[in-house]
Amino acid sequence: MNIILLGAPGAGKGTQAAIICDHLKIPTISTGNIIRAALKSGTEMGLRAKSYMDEGKLVPDEVVIGIIKERLAEDDCKNGFILDGFPRTIPQAEALDKMGVVIDRVVDIEVSDEEIVHRLSGRRVCESCSASYHVTFNKPQEEGKCDLCAGTLIQRMDDHPNTVNERLNVYHEQTEPLRDYYAKQGKLSVVSGEGDISEITRLTLAALEA
Ligand code: ADP
Ligand code: ADP
Ligand code: ZN
Repeated sequence: MNIILLGAPGAGKGTQAAIICDHLKIPTISTGNIIRAALKSGTEMGLRAKSYMDEGKLVPDEVVIGIIKERLAEDDCKNGFILDGFPRTIPQAEALDKMGVVIDRVVDIEVSDEEIVHRLSGRRVCESCSASYHVTFNKPQEEGKCDLCAGTLIQRMDDHPNTVNERLNVYHEQTEPLRDYYAKQGKLSVVSGEGDISEITRLTLAALEA
């Protein structure tokens, strides 16, 4: 099954993707994680993306479309995948269609802007495996340490409050129109992203079975 998780930054896409991919035994593809890994290893693509990311802007379409094309060609995507953070613009969605990638279901995780601000300000991510935690809503067992791999938890530069507003603006302007795009294709399910993580997983899995 080929799945897209839509939603604002901080809606819980990554958190849900990690649970669902375990469930369905398909990989999660996060363009954000791929770009951050490229940045860490100092590749040209990573360096090119950095200034956009730091300002809370989207990386140019051609860059992320290139990333996705390469990643989807890998063997582990043959039986399906979850896209987390892609597409984020109409041209990105059109590029997927043009590649002949058939999307089965798009789940939009809805969270209010006010809640997003709380989530991003307290988000901590694992430096090694990118698992996502929250200082009050979703604490690791041991402070500052990843439950899954014992890696160090850090705050992302772009989760600082001055960037969060810009990311929300970008979301409303450029990404939200994708809801209509996929509703018109008859593929959209909307679930509330506010509530217990396990309840949101239940709603998401139900949407995938529908
Ligand atoms: P996204 O991938 O959509 O940007 P994340 O999965 O990283 O979002 O979640 C954003 C933040 O909100 C993280 O700190 C995460 O631990 C927290 N979070 C995720 N789901 C919930 C939830 N249902 N309730 C409260 N906090 C949540
Ligand atoms: P979040 O889910 O919290 O918004 P991501 O890790 O998905 O964060 O994305 C972080 C940043 O990486 C974005 O603000 C943007 O600069 C860049 N990025 C990730 N995915 C895309 C994409 N599909 N198109 C353009 N830029 C992207
Ligand atoms: Zn980890």
